[in-house]
Amino acid sequence: MRLLVPDQVLGSVLDIDFEYLKEKNLLGLLVDIDNTLVRWEKSSIDPKFVQWVGEAKDEGFRVCLVSNALEKRVQFFAELLHIPAVARAWKPSQRAFLRGIHKLEMDKEQIAVVGDQLFTDVFGGNRLGLYTILINPLSSQELKTTKFMRKLEKRMIERMVRQGFLDPTAIQIRNGEE
Ligand SMILES: [Mg+2]
Repeated sequence: MRLLVPDQVLGSVLDIDFEYLKEKNLLGLLVDIDNTLVRWEKSSIDPKFVQWVGEAKDEGFRVCLVSNALEKRVQFFAELLHIPAVARAWKPSQRAFLRGIHKLEMDKEQIAVVGDQLFTDVFGGNRLGLYTILINPLSSQELKTTKFMRKLEKRMIERMVRQGFLDPTAIQIRNGEE
């Protein structure tokens, strides 16, 4: 189970504390697209997330998209945000994260993975020993398989809290209560 425990649980990428990450020398961000920056199946990104990517860059972070989505969709957002990307990542496969790290030209120790799914983003990142940040999905509209995974995700997070791996506030954040 330890491989499923995120280092941080937050409501949205907008809640990421850049200063805190900088203190930890985490200056490379591998960011998921669907339901992390863009609502699932939507083709436009909320300007506040475009701005967030800009702020991250201004703060000295290097950002790369790592998404299981198809090349065309991923490239569209990569060009819009002017950042590199890895498409068809097959997360939690480690290869995609390694490609992302390579594109950022950084060390593993400098990387934080940001995504909305425990079993792809967090598990994949943790397998490589990367810092992981779980955020809430932007939309509850998802694939059936993902909806099923959400139920497991919820149970896992509750278990992590019970066993002391996660702060109890994680449950409230996940439920959108905080
Ligand atoms: Mg996602």
